[in-house]
Amino acid sequence: MIDKQTRIKIAIQKSGRLTEHSLDLLERCGLKYTRGRDQLIGYGENMPIDLLFVRDDDIPGLVRDDVCDLGIAGLNIIEEKRLEYGCDGIMAPYTEVCRLDYGHCRLAFGYPETGARQAITELDGATIATSYPFTVRDYLKRNDISADVVEFSGAVEIAPSLGRADVICDLVSTGTTMIANKIREGETILESQCMLIRTPVAIPEEKTAWVNRLLQRIEGVMQVRESKYIMMHAPKSALAEIRALLPGAESPTVLPLEGVDGRVAIHVVCRENVFWETLEALKDVGASSILVVPVEKMLA
Ligand code: ATP
Ligand code: ZN
Repeated sequence: MIDKQTRIKIAIQKSGRLTEHSLDLLERCGLKYTRGRDQLIGYGENMPIDLLFVRDDDIPGLVRDDVCDLGIAGLNIIEEKRLEYGCDGIMAPYTEVCRLDYGHCRLAFGYPETGARQAITELDGATIATSYPFTVRDYLKRNDISADVVEFSGAVEIAPSLGRADVICDLVSTGTTMIANKIREGETILESQCMLIRTPVAIPEEKTAWVNRLLQRIEGVMQVRESKYIMMHAPKSALAEIRALLPGAESPTVLPLEGVDGRVAIHVVCRENVFWETLEALKDVGASSILVVPVEKMLA
C-alpha cells in the first residue's frame, strides 16, 4: 500500500514509445526505484516517489481523478481526454505543468493517393477514421466541416483499404507508415510532444517540497541535454563577435592567459547544441584551442 499523504505518485506509460524516455528522465533526476513483482508499480528508493506503469490512454484519467499527483503523456492523448471529459468551466481536468523534450509527433490528415478527397476543403460528407475522435470532431466543428468520424483503436492507416473510411487522421512522426500505405500526409491538426501534467487538486503540503524539487530537476535535465560548456583562447577584441556566434550563451568568464598579451581564455555555457559551423566561425574570428564539453548536471 502506498502512503498517499506523503508519497508522490507519477503515472507513466507501461510499455511503448514514451516509456524509455520517461524512465530516463526520472533516472536523470536522481530517482532509483525497484519494480514490484506485478511490474505495475515502481517504488522509489531514494525519493518519496512511486511510479504507476499504465497504458498511456489511462494517464490523463488517473491524474484527473487524483489517483496520481503527476502524469507523463503525449499532448495528443491529453488533449483527446480533455475534450472527452469536458470542462466544467471552473477547473480544467488537470493542469499542464511543462512540455518535455521528447515524443514529438503530429496529428494529421492522410489522404489515400487514389482517393477523390485530397484536402480539408473536400471533407464534407467524408468518413474519417481516427483514434482521436474527440480531437477530430472538435477540429471539424471549429472549421464548419460536416463529416463522419469512425473510431479505430489502432491500425488506422488500413481503414481506407478496408473500405471503412475515405480519409484518416492519425499520428505521424517520420511519415513512413502513411507512405507505406499509399496515403499522402495532409494538414496537421495538432502538434504534439510529451507533457507533464498534475492533479487539479491541491497537492498535500508534505509532498510539495519534493514535487517542486522534482520539477526543478526536470527543468535542469532538459536544459543540459542541449547545453555545452565551451572553452577557447581568443583575442580579447573579438569578444563581442564570439558572443554573437554562440547561441543561447550566458555571460562568458574571461580569464587572462599567463604571459600572452591581448589573448584571453573564454569559458561559456551554451544552452543550445553547438555545431561544427559555429566552431569554424569561431576560428575565423581568431579563436584557437576550442573545446566543447557536455554538461552533466545544471541547476539554474
Ligand atoms: P499503450 O499500450 O500505452 O496504449 P500506444 O500504442 O497507445 O500504447 P505508443 O505507440 O507507444 O502508444 O505511443 C505513445 C505516444 O507516443 C503517443 O500517444 C504519442 O504521444 C507519441 N508518439 C510519438 N511519435 C509517434 C508516432 N509516430 N506514432 C504514434 N505515437 C507517437
Ligand atoms: Zn495508447
